[in-house]
Amino acid sequence: MTAQILDGKAIAQKVREEVREGVARFVSAYGRPPGLDVLLVGEDPASVIYTRNKEKASHEVGMRGRLHRLPADTGEDELLRRIAELNADASVDGILVQLPLPSQIREARVLDAIDPGKDVDGFHPVNAGLLATGRPGLVPCTPKGSMRLLAEAGARLEGARAVVVGRSNIVGKPMAQLLLAAHATVTIAHSRTRDLATVCREADILVAAVGRARLIKGDWIKEGAVVIDVGMNRTEDGKLAGDVDFEAAKARASWITPVPGGVGPMTIATLLENTLRAARARLGEG
Ligand code: NDP
Repeated sequence: MTAQILDGKAIAQKVREEVREGVARFVSAYGRPPGLDVLLVGEDPASVIYTRNKEKASHEVGMRGRLHRLPADTGEDELLRRIAELNADASVDGILVQLPLPSQIREARVLDAIDPGKDVDGFHPVNAGLLATGRPGLVPCTPKGSMRLLAEAGARLEGARAVVVGRSNIVGKPMAQLLLAAHATVTIAHSRTRDLATVCREADILVAAVGRARLIKGDWIKEGAVVIDVGMNRTEDGKLAGDVDFEAAKARASWITPVPGGVGPMTIATLLENTLRAARARLGEG
């Protein structure tokens, strides 16, 4: 079998088009665009690029996007003060604090301070709790985008065996919750999992969110599995590689995401979707 490629770039473009139409309807209904405010503390080069891309993407779909750049030595109190201002500002629908934060700032205190209704990253414990209890809320962008990829592949989730490798709060855990909500039988693997190869070989749906280049070997892939590779790893030759050995896995999977061009583009597209959703919900639309 040679896998079909799940083209995240093309699907993300489709999502952006959907959001653009939704934004236009929002503007004609409420006379203002949805607003996304992104806070960046410090100069981490990857974070600078990510936050600029988020601001740009929000403009492209007709939102009001604003990037707030704060110096690297910003204190926790100052950041909390900025968040409180944005929480109170009626023109702000989505607030995102770019991670990682400098060491003088406690991440949990910052995430807890964001109004859960404006928490477009879905990292607030209230949103994590809503997801865990099967109630509507804002869902983290990367796993939500990965679910969209599975839907576009026509993957049958009900009753399927799903394995998520990685248990972070931002990817692995919410991904597992979403698969469970879609009636898959879900296993979460992590660094202490014994015999990862055998666990992976059970998977009809395999999601890799580890951060180790090509950790998942081709012969760990069940024949016909759908493989979602969240990993983004810089290799020694400067290229980007996923957590899955793509070429070998392609020979066994039915669908597979490439890296780059798979999950990556879905994350920002889903952020825009979440911002529109937050804006509608704040104005009383479901
Ligand atoms: P974390 O480092 O927070 O979590 C990694 C997880 O992988 C942990 O649960 C860890 O286990 C597990 N793990 C580490 N080593 C192994 C191993 N050898 N075998 C099995 N499990 C292992 O990473 P994130 O969840 O934040 O990100 C994961 C990857 O996804 C990264 O490459 C990141 O760059 C990428 N990413 C991509 C995004 C996108 O938009 N495409 C967005 C976010 C992340 P333990 O808990 O035991 O330590």
